[in-house]
Amino acid sequence: MYILLMGPPGAGKGTQAEKLIDAYKIPHISTGDMFRAAVSQGTELGKEAKKYMDAGGLVPDVVTIGIVREGLAKPECAKGFILDGFPRTQEQAVALDGILKDLGIKLTGVVNIEVPDKDLVDRVTGRRICKKCGATYHITFNPPKVEGICDKCGGDLYQRDDDKAETVKNRLAAYHSQTEPLISYYKKQGIYINIDGTQPIDKVYSAVKSSLDSRK
Ligand code: ADP
Ligand code: ADP
Ligand code: ZN
Repeated sequence: MYILLMGPPGAGKGTQAEKLIDAYKIPHISTGDMFRAAVSQGTELGKEAKKYMDAGGLVPDVVTIGIVREGLAKPECAKGFILDGFPRTQEQAVALDGILKDLGIKLTGVVNIEVPDKDLVDRVTGRRICKKCGATYHITFNPPKVEGICDKCGGDLYQRDDDKAETVKNRLAAYHSQTEPLISYYKKQGIYINIDGTQPIDKVYSAVKSSLDSRK
């Protein structure tokens, strides 16, 4: 299973990825998670990425393509992966085709989770993430049993710096101008799967899972 998860900020990519990695036992590669880890470790990559993330813009292609190339070359990705949040530009999509060709891998499917802008601001501003295990919650749509505490590991929940209403606007603009055009790129390759992301989390999951299973 070589899966791409696409969709605007807050569409539910991370939430679905958490379930898919359990079902398929394959690694989750999220460029957003990689950048956040670099920011919290204070590395050079983190310092560079933070400037763009705080503004709600995209980290430059050269930087992003480099980390994905490294990630996909790891032996644990040979049997499958879920790539979440990459590619986000035409240049990244073309680079990814080259990386996959070098590795001898063909994508199983490109899952696009479609959610209209009007729903995304509430999704993003209500998102909370576990500091310890990275699990994703929502204060209204997917609340933890105890406020502020992760159900899975007991870790504290936090809000991402860029999950503020002002920043979300810029992230949506970046999505529409740079990432949304990739839908036609993957439609042309015949591997595009569109999913209605406005349904409840479990309904979205069954739709994603059954369309991927049919392509195995
Ligand atoms: P993405 O990775 O695409 O940015 P997330 O998976 O982090 O999105 O989801 C964004 C927020 O919306 C989270 O707080 C999550 O709990 C919530 N969420 C995810 N899927 C749904 C859904 N189908 N319905 C309602 N809320 C959802
Ligand atoms: P979301 O879950 O809201 O879709 P991510 O966690 O995927 O957001 O990404 C957070 C931020 O990290 C983005 O707003 C962007 O600044 C940066 N980022 C993540 N993936 C990429 C990418 N493929 N290209 C450029 N920047 C990226
Ligand atoms: Zn946790």
